[in-house]
Formats: sequence, structure tokens, C-alpha cells
Amino acid sequence: AAKKAGRNNFSEYESCLEKDMLSKITMYEEIKNAIQEEQFELYYQPKHSVKDENIVGAEALIRWQHPEKGFISPGEFIPLAEDTDLIIPLGNWVIRKAFRQYKEWNTISPIDFHLSINISPKQFIDDNFIPFLLRSVEEFSVSPEKIDLEITESLAIENTELTLEKINQLKKIGFKITMDDFGTGYTSLTYLSKFPLDRIKIDQSFIRDITSNKNHAAIVQSLVSVAKNLDIKVTAEGVETKEQLLYLQEWDCDEIQGYYYSKPIPSISFGEYHLENMKIYLMT
Ligand code: C2E
Ligand code: MG
Ligand code: MG
Ligand code: MG
Repeated sequence: AAKKAGRNNFSEYESCLEKDMLSKITMYEEIKNAIQEEQFELYYQPKHSVKDENIVGAEALIRWQHPEKGFISPGEFIPLAEDTDLIIPLGNWVIRKAFRQYKEWNTISPIDFHLSINISPKQFIDDNFIPFLLRSVEEFSVSPEKIDLEITESLAIENTELTLEKINQLKKIGFKITMDDFGTGYTSLTYLSKFPLDRIKIDQSFIRDITSNKNHAAIVQSLVSVAKNLDIKVTAEGVETKEQLLYLQEWDCDEIQGYYYSKPIPSISFGEYHLENMKIYLMT
């Protein structure tokens, strides 16, 4: 009986694997199709200065509205796009879309903030990445100084030398570089001195409980101070409460991003949000 149960379990496991494979293959085809059918959209989440609460940046975050399945989160399809080569066309689509949007906002009223774009490791080390970026800044007359590329620790760990070379090239052109989700990987502090970063974005898993978890509070506070001494700006990600903001203010963190100010919103609402904030700024 045990043997039989075992075999049953195995075939259940097998068919589970098959289903998993099948759904991955389907998803692959669907992402490919969705790029052509323009099912993707970019949302934007504002970043605010801790000092005066002005908008200092916006992060572009991809959204997929599937015609039958509805909303699919990037946490689901980005990893699959990364496993396959689809992240290259998808990543290129994001860059062009974000630049076009930036140009549009800039036409309405001159933009004083930077635009952050998430770059996957595979995309970042691809030989065509920098040439593509250069063509795109030209096409949409975007100044590279206003573009902040968010990379992750895993990229730096697996391809240290190549990453350093690419960062140097990008910095020479004028692009800004942010290390996203900082603190979640195995990055040691030496990376902070090895890479010429403009900012680090402290991961939300640390920010979430800074007001209740003394260890996380200590880590965040120390990261801010180390980064400051290296002339690296610090963004706190996932700030949801006033209390968290007050802690970060006290520690002299530079920028915050999170639901406390705004969730990621469609480009049109972001344009309004920005204008609204400018008005407040001009009035005070
Ligand atoms: P990320 O770059 O670390 O983005 C931050 C995530 O945290 C976003 O999730 C954002 O909506 C969410 N978030 C922001 N503030 C708060 C908050 O106060 N509370 C909570 N609970 N969450 C908050 P999202 O948009 O689902 O994106 C997830 C991840 O997918 C991103 O993490 C990024 O790694 C990836 N991703 C999104 N768009 C792109 C893209 O265009 N290209 C690439 N390569 N990856 C992307
Ligand atoms: Mg990011
Ligand atoms: Mg992040
Ligand atoms: Mg992330």
C-alpha cells in the first residue's frame, strides 16, 4: 500500500511539474504576444525628499493587464521574462515608453526630477544595452543625467567585473546608478566603495518594521550613515506611515518612496500629482 501511495504521489508530482512547465510555456507565449499587442503599461511612483517633501523622482513600474486573466503582477512575469530572453524586448519597451513619457511631461512643464527605471541583470550586461540607451536618449531628447538606472545586488555579485565596467561607461555618459533592494542580497559594504553608485535604495523588508524592530532600525541607521560618508544618496523604499517617515528624517535619510505618499499610479494621474505638488510648492 505504501508503495502504491508512493507511486501515486510521484505521478502527482510529475503531473504538477508538467502543469508548471505548461503554464510557463503558455506564459512565455503570452508575454511575447503581449509586447506586440501593447498590453503592458507603465505606472509611476513618486519619490519625495525627506527634507522638504518635494518630488525628487519617479520610478517606472510595469503593469500587465491581461485581456482574460486581468492584472498580472510583475513579481510573477518579470522572473519568467528574466529566465528567457524576453526580458530584452520587454526591457527595451520599458525604456522607450518611459523616455517618451518623460519627454511628454517635460513638454507640459519643465521637469525637475529624475526618472528611475528597473534594469534586469541580463538586460544590463547585454552588449546592446548601452547602444540602445544612447539611441533612445537621442530619439526622445532625454538628458541622461535625469535617468536613474536601478540595478540589483545579484547582478553585482555574479558579474562583478563586467558590472563595474558597464557602470563606469554609463556614468561617463551621465546616467545615474541606484542599487535597488539594498540589504537583501549578500552584498557586503565593500560593494559600496567598489561601485561608483549614486544611490542605494534600502529594501522595504528593513523599512517595514523600523519603528518596532531595534535590529532593523540599527541597520538602516548605519546604512544611511555609511552611504552618506561615501557620498551616496539613500532612498528608503516602502514607507507607509508618518512614524516611519519621522524616524528616517531623524537619521537624515535623503528620499522616501512608499504608500505614505502614493502608490504607483498611471502616467496621467502622475502628471496631475506632480503639478499639484508643484502648486503647493510655489504657494508655500
Ligand atoms: P522594486 O523595483 O523593488 O519596486 C518596488 C515595489 O514595491 C513595487 O512593486 C511597488 O509597487 C512596491 N511598493 C512601493 N511602495 C510600497 C509600500 O509602501 N508598501 C508596499 N507593500 N509596497 C510598496 P511592483 O510594482 O509590484 O514591482 C515588483 C518588482 O518587479 C519591482 O521591485 C522590480 O523588481 C520588478 N519590476 C517592476 N517593473 C519592472 C520593469 O519595468 N523592469 C524590470 N526589470 N523589473 C520591474
Ligand atoms: Mg526598483
Ligand atoms: Mg526595490
Ligand atoms: Mg524588488
